[in-house]
Amino acid sequence: MIKRTLNDIAEMIQIENDLSPYGKKEIQGVSINSREITPGQLFIPFKGERTDGHQYVSDAIEKGAAAAFWQEDVPNPPTHLPIIIVKDTLTALQELARAYRNQLSIKVVGITGSNGKTTTKDMMANLLALKYKVQKTEGNYNNHIGLPLTILALEERTEVAVLEMGMSGKGEIDFLTKLARPDATIITNIGESHLQDLGSREGIAEAKLEIINGLKSDGLMVYMGDEPLLRNYFDSYEGQATVKTFGRTEQNDLYPVNIQQLDNGSKFQVNASEVEFTLPILGMHNVLNALSAMIVAQHFNVSFAEMEAGLVKVRLTNMRMEILQGQNGEKIINDAYNASPTSTQASIELLANLPGYKKKILVLGDMLELGADEERFHEEIGLSICAENIDAVFTYGRLGHLIAKGAKEVLSEDRVFAFDEKAPLIEELKKHVNDETIVLVKASRGMKLEEVVEGLQ
Ligand code: ATP
Ligand code: MG
Repeated sequence: MIKRTLNDIAEMIQIENDLSPYGKKEIQGVSINSREITPGQLFIPFKGERTDGHQYVSDAIEKGAAAAFWQEDVPNPPTHLPIIIVKDTLTALQELARAYRNQLSIKVVGITGSNGKTTTKDMMANLLALKYKVQKTEGNYNNHIGLPLTILALEERTEVAVLEMGMSGKGEIDFLTKLARPDATIITNIGESHLQDLGSREGIAEAKLEIINGLKSDGLMVYMGDEPLLRNYFDSYEGQATVKTFGRTEQNDLYPVNIQQLDNGSKFQVNASEVEFTLPILGMHNVLNALSAMIVAQHFNVSFAEMEAGLVKVRLTNMRMEILQGQNGEKIINDAYNASPTSTQASIELLANLPGYKKKILVLGDMLELGADEERFHEEIGLSICAENIDAVFTYGRLGHLIAKGAKEVLSEDRVFAFDEKAPLIEELKKHVNDETIVLVKASRGMKLEEVVEGLQ
């Protein structure tokens, strides 16, 4: 966590305020939420559309904040409080993070991609923690506010920071990577999220590839090598970074062999080692996430033998592949955190291949923000469901009906149930489950399908 005097802070963001008598006062950390202020923090208010954080500045200082920023176009800055006047508080937060990052002698790993960023980040942190003092993005703090806050939360003695970088449009990853200046970067995959804003998968790939713009010139770039859009780009790449790939296929630098599905995860080996890894998280896509983290860990001198101990201990952040118990003895995989066609496909494949259950049920809801082709994407998901391995499909929501439409083509009609409300869905679902059943629940965050999970518990 950043510890600097107010004079230092002003210098870091190149502001020439007269800070007397407060200039030597030390701040410890920053916060943008006046309700969560802890003593010594710098409070940074934002001028939002509905509420203006500046009205909480005195409150924050009363609660122990050491100082606050104040945006110059907001009238009546308090004259009797430790305040630094800045042109724009958000820019000042970002500039402070940039300056702090440049003062730290720390290695940074930056992770972007359509799916699997948070998962890969958690795996990465586990692997590197075997050798280093590691800090990582908390939760999903991966944007133009979250990333600066994450950087400002870094301790000076931290050796490696693992940072997630998210985006919803062009130029955003460029900004984040130039701020974080990573020593190693990962592109987990290219999916369809944000298709609405970026127009095409090519557009999405270009936006993710911006991550290389901030990579140290002699750094390490790791990408999903089964994705032609990325492979094409790197085929003609002329930069100095070391480029490595991971994926399912043998064309990659690192790929899995001897994969065994367990009821709570996977066992696998990799082409480059004899070591047998156990990953206590379901799904082939999570094996791939692990591979990308392993390439970076190897770059930081963690051996495969050492990684084995790190992977066994991986736990995921909430609602990503959580395995829970339902009232009727059924197992529930709560994957309601988010959904896109790629990640939904991955989850269906995972359920289809899972050993040890007599009955497998999919509960799928709308995948949002897919743009003009949203209906086609939903119908295709329905069509892709493998009738031999999946016993029933329940859908929720307007677009869910299109999943059901596709599913009815491949499963008999009496195995597909479409709903517009959660209560009747839960009621019907309960009639289909027993202690030999596994139910997988997945949809976009906005659909709140965890309510179905709660309904079963
Ligand atoms: P966000 O953009 O919301 O931050 P994220 O990229 O951090 O998402 P995770 O939170 O790690 O992604 O995973 C979200 C969901 O994506 C998981 O529940 C899982 O179903 C799916 N997923 C994870 N990794 C992959 C992958 N490599 N390929 C396809 N789907 C994946
Ligand atoms: Mg995330």
